[in-house]
Amino acid sequence: MNGIVLPSADDLRARARAALQRVGATVPDRGTGLRARTPITGDDLFPVPAAGADDTEEAIAAARAAFLDWRRTPAPRRGELVRRLGELLREHKEDLADLITIEAGKIRSEALGEVQEMVDVCDFAVGLSRQLYGRTIASERPGHRLAETWHPLGVVGVISAFNFPAAVWSWNTAVALACGDTVVWKPSELTPLISLACDRLLARAAEDVGAPRDVHRLLLGDRSVGERLVDDPRIALVSATGSTRMGREVGPRVAARFGRSLLELGGNNAAVVAPSADPDLAVRGIVFAAVGTAGQRCTTLRRLIVHREVADPLVDRLTAAYQKLPIGDPFDRSTLVGPLISTAAFDDMRAALDRARDEGGELIVGGERRPAGSAPGAAYVEPAIVRVPGQTDVVREETFAPLLYVMTYDTLDEAIALHNDVPQGLSSSIFTRDQREAELFLSAEGSDCGIANVNIGTSGAEIGGAFGGEKETGGGRESGSDAWRAYMRAATNTVNYSGQLALAQNVSFL
Ligand code: NAD
Repeated sequence: MNGIVLPSADDLRARARAALQRVGATVPDRGTGLRARTPITGDDLFPVPAAGADDTEEAIAAARAAFLDWRRTPAPRRGELVRRLGELLREHKEDLADLITIEAGKIRSEALGEVQEMVDVCDFAVGLSRQLYGRTIASERPGHRLAETWHPLGVVGVISAFNFPAAVWSWNTAVALACGDTVVWKPSELTPLISLACDRLLARAAEDVGAPRDVHRLLLGDRSVGERLVDDPRIALVSATGSTRMGREVGPRVAARFGRSLLELGGNNAAVVAPSADPDLAVRGIVFAAVGTAGQRCTTLRRLIVHREVADPLVDRLTAAYQKLPIGDPFDRSTLVGPLISTAAFDDMRAALDRARDEGGELIVGGERRPAGSAPGAAYVEPAIVRVPGQTDVVREETFAPLLYVMTYDTLDEAIALHNDVPQGLSSSIFTRDQREAELFLSAEGSDCGIANVNIGTSGAEIGGAFGGEKETGGGRESGSDAWRAYMRAATNTVNYSGQLALAQNVSFL
């Protein structure tokens, strides 16, 4: 079978082994429970030991013990650990990017971008370690001081998804460590190697700055390991990133024990294209957002809501761009579309295309699987565009693949109503040169998403802003801005220095 030319599984195994060795991690060579695998060829790479119930118990106990020490460490000194981690991430950028490409199938520039995001969030968290501010509040009583103090929260359980196998960990971990928390990480079962590398670099950083080793513990395993974190009362905060299905299970279980959860779940992101949009900019923004990471970002553009006047020319230009997309080996620097994570992901895409057709949709371009040489277990797919008559059932669901639905509108009110009429609420954008339209889209009556953009696509957020979405996306905020507050607990302090006992609200007693 001809088609896409790929490296061999042996080449990828050697490359992964070399990257792990350079970061100082032990290359797994035996173990049961998990297998490291690559979507580039669909082959298994290494057997990986999964954590059992005893390992989980030991890790949580160790992280809890380390917390009692770490919370006493002054925040700027905690920042030194995060600074050292950032230095090591910079030093090993290429190694980490190799592992991300091997396990998640990301093209080179996106894998390097993911590591850069980790470096950036470390820089952010180092600054944060000197800015964990509380407020002082005007007291209604004379001789009293009213203030709010922020304290470390406890052990944070981080559960992460395959598609940002390292960045999501760093958003949580860099901020949690600066805040005085310790972390137990349960990464996706699909990405154990990059997890081993990140854990090793953090252990090296801890050794270098003299921080307790157990400020961070890694637990490899499937969802059963995640479930143990979810149910354990010693885990003060469960920060879980993944599908809405997962969040629906995790949220109520954590709430049942009055734990805190921070949920970053599925998206179904849309862009509105107005008649005044700059067509060149819109086409580039749409193609990156819809096709980048082979449509496997939570912020991937999945719905395009286009003004009727500009729909045909825009779809023509997008079709031409889609037909030229280089699909193939993500290590090849000319490739823009790498593999889907699995053949099951391709099956989901095909099923969605069939449903879209049954619901009146018309396939404009793409949707076919590309043969991949001698790698039948790999799933390379042509990104697809489907014109739909309206927001049908399949359009309201997240299909985690490069599948873009296009629908039309006549008035901006109609476009915003369509935009918001889905269960998810992660990312959104409008392409327009009309300031009134842009401001309306960003206003309280506009997009109902946690991220709303103008003249840029839905994906590729910077770490400085808080990241997260509303509705079935889970309501969490992570990374920048004041997202750190989720990783701390606030105490309100009233200090009476008056010598009199004055009660609030003029209550008199005794
Ligand atoms: P997934 O839900 O299958 O798995 C995510 C993680 O949750 C894995 O580590 C898995 O082992 C664990 N898990 C699953 N069920 C669990 C349970 N009942 N209890 C505890 N842990 C459980 O998701 P995936 O396929 O790895 O990732 C793709 C999904 O993640 C998409 O829906 C995507 O939109 C979403 N995602 C969201 C964000 C965001 O920030 N909003 C970021 C990345 C990915």
